[in-house]
Amino acid sequence: MDRRNFLRMMALTAAGLFLGEEKAAAYILETWEPPIRKLFLRFTEYEERPSTEVIVIHHAGFPDGDKDSSAEEIHKFHQEVNGWAGIGYHYVIRKDGTIEQGRKPLAVGAHAYQHNKNSVGICVAGNFEIAKPNHKQMDSLKLLTAWLCQRYKLNPMGKGVIVGHRDLNDTACPGNNLYKKLDDIRYWCRDFN
Ligand SMILES: [Zn+2]
Repeated sequence: MDRRNFLRMMALTAAGLFLGEEKAAAYILETWEPPIRKLFLRFTEYEERPSTEVIVIHHAGFPDGDKDSSAEEIHKFHQEVNGWAGIGYHYVIRKDGTIEQGRKPLAVGAHAYQHNKNSVGICVAGNFEIAKPNHKQMDSLKLLTAWLCQRYKLNPMGKGVIVGHRDLNDTACPGNNLYKKLDDIRYWCRDFN
């Protein structure tokens, strides 16, 4: 097994995908997808994205502390408080590492002003100005980002491909403690793909 497939196998096993049988393992290594919890949230509008060139990483960043938040909670907040079609992010990574589907994968998001038509938004639960993302969250974030790079044929080392929200808008998001890990994520995705 080459280095790339070894890395994939280790990551997918850590993500809970069973790779015991040789045939199943070969299949998953070719067509792999990280485990994503689908929530069937209702949206008031749907517009499809013309292209996908950027992956934008966020934190939830609630000012009252570093806490877990679900895609459902954020969905409710974005609808009721912001008056949006629904949750602005495409994915939410919970404190236990679970990846939840937010906005539909191909929909235009609402997460990075003036950059939504060509980007996917990932929100990592917590406030990383005051805390650090935990290992389970980082593992899921790497796996999800690597998969998105593969799916949309993006070069993870390309300039402006994997970015923090603060690279695009005037915000502290995704917090210093997550922002400084973006290079780790880029290198990891390069090796994985
Ligand atoms: Zn953000």
